[in-house]
Amino acid sequence: MKGYKMSIMETKKPPLAPIPKEDPEKEEEKKKLLEALKYDDGEKTPTICSICKAMLEYNGLGEYVCPDCGHKEYDSYGMVRNYLEKYPGANILQVEKATGIPRQKITKMIAEDRFRVAGGNVSMQ
Ligand SMILES: [Zn+2]
Repeated sequence: MKGYKMSIMETKKPPLAPIPKEDPEKEEEKKKLLEALKYDDGEKTPTICSICKAMLEYNGLGEYVCPDCGHKEYDSYGMVRNYLEKYPGANILQVEKATGIPRQKITKMIAEDRFRVAGGNVSMQ
């Protein structure tokens, strides 16, 4: 049996839009953000203080602190940690509901040994 001959339709591409020049200040900001996101796997990592816009410093255990005003912010891990500190033995659904972090993400953190789960209850390592 003979196969059909495929023909590729040649379409004319529109001319490329000129690439806008980035100003160096923006580039620097982008670099900083990328640096802060380097070890991130898609989770939200706070980088800038929501009160005074200073760069946050990582305090460990998912906690970020503003060097200027002392305001604290948390990433997904920090939020789950905070919740479990208050409500030890909560299950994944309760953690998801309270923190707004999807259960897939919580399950992933458990898989990464950042939390433990026993009898459906999540606990800190
Ligand atoms: Zn601040």
